[in-house]
Amino acid sequence: MTQYEPVIGLEIHAELITASKMFCGCSADYASAPEPNTNICPVCTGLPGALPVANKKAVELAALVALALNCSINKHNTFARKNYYYPDLPKGYQISQYELPIAEKGWLEVHSGSSSGAASAAYRDPSRVRVRRVHIEEDTAKLFHEKNYALVDFNRAGVPLLEIVSEPDMHSAEAALDYATKVRAILRYLGVNTGDMEKGVLRFEANVSVRPAGSDELRTRTEIKNLNSFRALTRAIAYEIERQIQIYESGGTVIQETLGWDDLRGVTTSQRSKEEAHDYRYFPEPDLPPLQFSDAWIESIRSQLPELPEAKTARFISDFGLTPSEARFLISERALADYFEKVAAAAKSPARTVHSWIAGELMRYLNDSGMSIEDMTLSPASFARLIDMTTDKVISSNSAKVVFNEMLASGGDPEQIVKEKNLAQVSDENEIQAIVEKILNDNPAEVEKYLAGKETLLQWFMGQVARATKGKADPNVAKELLVKSLEERRK
Ligand code: ADP
Ligand code: MG
Ligand code: ZN
Repeated sequence: MTQYEPVIGLEIHAELITASKMFCGCSADYASAPEPNTNICPVCTGLPGALPVANKKAVELAALVALALNCSINKHNTFARKNYYYPDLPKGYQISQYELPIAEKGWLEVHSGSSSGAASAAYRDPSRVRVRRVHIEEDTAKLFHEKNYALVDFNRAGVPLLEIVSEPDMHSAEAALDYATKVRAILRYLGVNTGDMEKGVLRFEANVSVRPAGSDELRTRTEIKNLNSFRALTRAIAYEIERQIQIYESGGTVIQETLGWDDLRGVTTSQRSKEEAHDYRYFPEPDLPPLQFSDAWIESIRSQLPELPEAKTARFISDFGLTPSEARFLISERALADYFEKVAAAAKSPARTVHSWIAGELMRYLNDSGMSIEDMTLSPASFARLIDMTTDKVISSNSAKVVFNEMLASGGDPEQIVKEKNLAQVSDENEIQAIVEKILNDNPAEVEKYLAGKETLLQWFMGQVARATKGKADPNVAKELLVKSLEERRK
């Protein structure tokens, strides 16, 4: 059987978070609109004679994203009309960019681990996915399909939308997933999009073809729409790769078409034959002047770029001694990374200990309470003091969890809680030795069984010590003294 190489390109649509719509003053916050068709005006409902005006903020955000994706900004770029009729497009055309988009020729580093696992190995083996273009357009209205009719809500019509088109540079579903994940993380870091795929503010389309391994040809592709989760994205691509291989293997040809993804059945379904660019009769938008940028303007946008996820990951690995997977977990959200850095700066403990606390107890707490890191009221300084108290063995790890929960509940300071709850760890050997002796004297039968070879009873004795000291005995000291005292009784 021929070996096949998948070829994948992604088109990403991201709404930009702005106060007003792309070409009019209507609120762009359609999610908070009290009623359908309230954030509308003659421009975004396509009334004759209404004139669009480009949203300055949206243009700035588009340029910011483009720079984050390593694109070159076109200092002169233009709007175009993409003509097609659909009930969610009141003008009968979408204002988009065609010949001269705001930016082109970017790239993103992707870790395309060819198969499962080995996240850290893949981390060392990046390859570039080229970004063909980034352009500004406007979102459509929303249709609601009822039983015998459909409803249309124009609140979303005209919301600023960014399209990010990659070159067909990905060769596995995993690579596509990594690229998509990275673009989403960048959009979130920039604060231009929430990344909420189930709300439709970020949408992916995957173009897929397969070719004999080793060849450079670009074979006929299909385009899969309606991918509203990363799971759907990877499953749909994997399915489509397999489907196309089957077609070639049975002597058939793949036809260029637009497919939908049926998540329940796990299959792609034919929607329509693929339209070509000439079907849209693109022409320059006569109602909008070209956008003209100065070098100074571009540089002022560039200066607003925050440290991006990739750079932050590398810095967390080199400066904090974290493993790649630890660093990637922490940078997954900007607020989480910021919180980690504040705690790590305040703590004397190693950064990896701070990471364990954040990945462990803090995450458990956030998941259980349904809170997000942004809602976190526990100050990084107090959290750092708590972590240091465990590192310094002032309290045991069990007590630390009690203190942690108390700090979250009451906001108290860790030293105070340890004092009030009398949780200071007992590491004084004489004190623990006395408790050990008492336990051994009180339980002669268990001592006998232990000495006869049932060594698992050591755990039970540890439990007794923990009980007698309310969990405050240093477990290492307790264990050492228990073993020694038990052995002494052998004689
Ligand atoms: P359109 O605008 O009609 O959708 P484009 O040629 O601009 O088509 O490409 C759209 C997307 O399809 C891009 O992300 C591109 O990388 C990808 N693509 C193009 N040719 C192929 C191919 N043969 N296999 C897989 N993806 C492809
Ligand atoms: Mg397309
Ligand atoms: Zn409007």
